[in-house]
Amino acid sequence: MLKSLPTDVRIIEVGPRDGLQNEKKVLSTDDKAHYIKLLTQTGLKTIEVTSFVRADKIPQMGDAVSLFEKVKSFLPTDIHAPCLVPNLTGLETALDIGVKEIAVFTATSNTFNKKNINATIEESFERIRPVAKMAIDCGIKVRGYISTVFGCPYEGQTSIENLMKVTRFLDEIGCYEISLGDTIGVGNPAQVLAITNELKKEFKLDRFAMHMHDTNGMALANILTALDCGHTNFDSSSAGLGGCPYAKGATGNVATEDVVNLLHCLGVNTGVDMEKLTTASEFILSKLEKKSSSKFYNAYMARKANP
Ligand code: MG
Repeated sequence: MLKSLPTDVRIIEVGPRDGLQNEKKVLSTDDKAHYIKLLTQTGLKTIEVTSFVRADKIPQMGDAVSLFEKVKSFLPTDIHAPCLVPNLTGLETALDIGVKEIAVFTATSNTFNKKNINATIEESFERIRPVAKMAIDCGIKVRGYISTVFGCPYEGQTSIENLMKVTRFLDEIGCYEISLGDTIGVGNPAQVLAITNELKKEFKLDRFAMHMHDTNGMALANILTALDCGHTNFDSSSAGLGGCPYAKGATGNVATEDVVNLLHCLGVNTGVDMEKLTTASEFILSKLEKKSSSKFYNAYMARKANP
């Protein structure tokens, strides 16, 4: 272990979208914009802003247009602000207001996809293909999300064959990066190793990001394993916001604070300032009126309160 640590790791902050979309309390657009502004001051270079889904489906994302307009007014030019787009309608809206990077999504499980987006894996390909084509034709970067890579709430363990099929598809349509989601947080280091070994046969690892959830307390173990395997891109959510509505007891995305702390302990550079990061988390937690699921965040704040 730890024979091949990278010097630098890129963190993709997904709190404002993946984190907030699973939080019940719907926040004001101003509060979300302020949270994102605080995140832009932390050193994070990729911040997923929102999702152009129907407001009746995910009320928290119902203000995508007005939120993005606000974010655009202060977004530094060196920060990427991808937005999730489920279909051509969402893409057209995103293009109209100047979104420069989008994310498309599918899963390795047919049952999960049917419940989440009412499409099989193959049907999702037909939905995504024209979205990616139009985006790329317009000069927009496309990121791909794959859910249930490590397990599905309905089908149990999912297959590496399906993962390879979905990965090849997202590669073929031009996704610059593919995020491998442990949607319900059931992944383990042996799976990280097995999946990575398969992917490495056909793809460079810098095409992927690991998207871990901490449901079973395994997120950091999985990330450490992924680092040792050569991964250098990690999705995480400040304060560990989020969860999955399809998985009972599933806690949030791995906390950005936990990931940054791990990496800094290992001497790996993230460019992220922990103090500024916790300021952003503290703000959004106060608006959500909830506590963080991150052990590190809670300990850090306790130490700050009682130096
Ligand atoms: Mg997630």
